[in-house]
Amino acid sequence: MYPFSLTTAPTTRAAVDAGRRGGRYIAGGTTLVDLMCETVERPDTLVDISRLPLREVTVTGGGGLRIGALVTMTEAAAHRKVRTLYPVVSQALELSASAQLRNMATIGGNIMQRTRCAYFRDVSAACNKRQPGSGCAAREGYNRTHAILGTSENCVATHPSDVSVALAALEARVHLLGPDGQRTVPFADFLLQPGRTPDREQAIHPGELITAVEIPAHPRPLKSGYLKVRDRESYEFALTSAAVALHIHGGVIREAKVAAGGVGTVPWKLPTVEQALVGKRPSDRLWAWAAESAADGARPLTHNRFKAELLKRTVERQLRIVGETA
Ligand code: SF4
Repeated sequence: MYPFSLTTAPTTRAAVDAGRRGGRYIAGGTTLVDLMCETVERPDTLVDISRLPLREVTVTGGGGLRIGALVTMTEAAAHRKVRTLYPVVSQALELSASAQLRNMATIGGNIMQRTRCAYFRDVSAACNKRQPGSGCAAREGYNRTHAILGTSENCVATHPSDVSVALAALEARVHLLGPDGQRTVPFADFLLQPGRTPDREQAIHPGELITAVEIPAHPRPLKSGYLKVRDRESYEFALTSAAVALHIHGGVIREAKVAAGGVGTVPWKLPTVEQALVGKRPSDRLWAWAAESAADGARPLTHNRFKAELLKRTVERQLRIVGETA
């Protein structure tokens, strides 16, 4: 470890002022402290935001949900309204990390978490995300867990968050407060694909603080769920995952929201799968046919060619699971 200063923000405005001066926000610390110990991150000043009043889950008009940025993963997963209105969110949270980590980690921190690419965390390896222009050790290295969608020559790392996949499927919005005031960013625009600047991961301005994540109202009844495929049953990141929400009325799928995890540099929305489902009657043939396009555009690497087929099967299976209960 190395020297750094720590201040506690008594108010949201004080936090933003400290952030504007270059302070790094810290709440649960479950990612940032690890990265500081490994000297991957070396902030001079940490701003403790854990006492700010951003801990509420509220129901918005029509059955949407607003989840405060400092609600812990455990609290969000267990919240009665989250469980009943959007089980896909509860399930994604409960399949993440460990109970101890979920007790500390917050929703805001979860969507800001950085990749688990081993080369990113090894300061002796070339990594454009950690050190722009240094190269990407993963492209020629061991890349079994890396991305097949949204990659660039500069970075092929996956985004590790499960709940972000559910939020992407549900077309959530991120509420931000910064030196220039409040703004809201669609989740689809918040997390950035690597392109030429893999070190830039979120559409967030200097000093901006996430205050909440909002899930818009969706037509009811809405059935939803999250499926995570991984090498072991707990405390492991996704090889593939699927977040699915279906509104079925009169025996016809009226709305379908689908996204995949473990395969993209960001949570990967699947509009072609969604479009294939809307207006159709649920059936096993439909699930299989719709899932066929899930890996369109995939660019597998040496060790992760299996992911394209696994992704299709994951999506098909989760469509069937949710569709049969709808
Ligand atoms: Fe770094 Fe991205 Fe390459 Fe991993 S995949 S080594 S994070 S540039």
